[in-house]
Amino acid sequence: APATITRDLRAEFPGLTTAEGQPWHYLDTAATAQKPRAVIDAMARALGEDYATVHRGVYARSAEMTLAYEAARRRIARFLGGLEEEVVFTRGATEAINLVAQTWGRTNLKAGDRILLSQLEHHSNIVPWQMIAAEVGAHIDVCPLTDDHCIDLDAAEAMLTERHKLVALAHVSNVTGSVLDAKRAAALAHKVGAKLLLDGCQSAPHMGVNVSALDCDFYVFSAHKLYGPTGIGALWARAELLDAMPPWQGGGAMIDRVTFEATTYAPAPQRFEAGTPAITEAIAFAAAADYVDAIGRDQIHAHEAALVTRLRRELGAMNDVTLFGPADSAGIVSFAIDDIHPHDLGTILDEANVAIRAGHHCAQPLMDYLGVPATARASFGLYSTEADIDAFIAGVARTRRIFGKA
Ligand code: PMP
Repeated sequence: APATITRDLRAEFPGLTTAEGQPWHYLDTAATAQKPRAVIDAMARALGEDYATVHRGVYARSAEMTLAYEAARRRIARFLGGLEEEVVFTRGATEAINLVAQTWGRTNLKAGDRILLSQLEHHSNIVPWQMIAAEVGAHIDVCPLTDDHCIDLDAAEAMLTERHKLVALAHVSNVTGSVLDAKRAAALAHKVGAKLLLDGCQSAPHMGVNVSALDCDFYVFSAHKLYGPTGIGALWARAELLDAMPPWQGGGAMIDRVTFEATTYAPAPQRFEAGTPAITEAIAFAAAADYVDAIGRDQIHAHEAALVTRLRRELGAMNDVTLFGPADSAGIVSFAIDDIHPHDLGTILDEANVAIRAGHHCAQPLMDYLGVPATARASFGLYSTEADIDAFIAGVARTRRIFGKA
């Protein structure tokens, strides 16, 4: 088994302390991760003494900032095992999926074509496809789940046809933590001539990711879930796909030559980055990738897996608890307690400085499938500890007493 994390990382995260100086038991890292000092400092330097625009200045500071911005792109490419010309900086995963839908989708999908999604997708991997499908007359098929709430690839295999042009799936579910067998999904998609898009929002922070080993065609994720800043994320796309995709948003920096008669466009990835980009965020994004890789993604995975195992064991021993998702979920545990609404649980836990998520997690079709309006969700990050679970379990016991269930 790979070594797990032994260093106490909590002190490196100012966000993990309450205003009163108490430890904050933050179990909502799947929504957004707290930031280490290294990332905050990198962002502050980029906004301060290093600050200038990119791609235009004739002065040294701007030339240096351009180098730093392009180095950040190389860093994210290396983080994913891709090439720098295959990485487009976007506002986040949501914008990356919309970009693929509006450019690749608009040129490659036509009436009668089909898109395969799954029952557990985040709204951001459903709605952009509904929008383009409605425009071009394509159809969406929904792959069902197995008994332990993983995407059922046997069912996907039976559903896929030559009419399918795209398969778009969560690499890891933000609700159940279930991990997709991405290589098999890629093989199934490619067998019928479809492309595979992986929503990597919850896989990039929790495990090693290599796009060539996964054999996907598109991979998207957000920096803020990887201990980086909000407002930036990345689209990785195979070079030959990205090169053939028309631009989406028009403006500065994405052009080759503009005249009122005809405008020509820059090559990828610049063609997809209209306007002044998120310069400081890109630099902090790269700092986050450095931070994660210095700890080690296998170590992070092993650390979180041990926490998941303990939490599932303790919750599973309570006879009024329903656990969702598989035993080997990646850093995420969704559950329900009979007769206690997740929002009430979340509110009472908050009084004890324990933060969990309660709601539909932007996955309403999954809630419908599970037959619940909401779930409670505890999710871990590289800084999570046994003490976080202790505080959580104590808070659950207190909630039960308040509801007269103890
Ligand atoms: N997909 C998944 C699986 C997610 O967890 C999230 C964030 N909750 C998103 C997509 C959307 O990411 P963002 O809001 O950062 O664009």
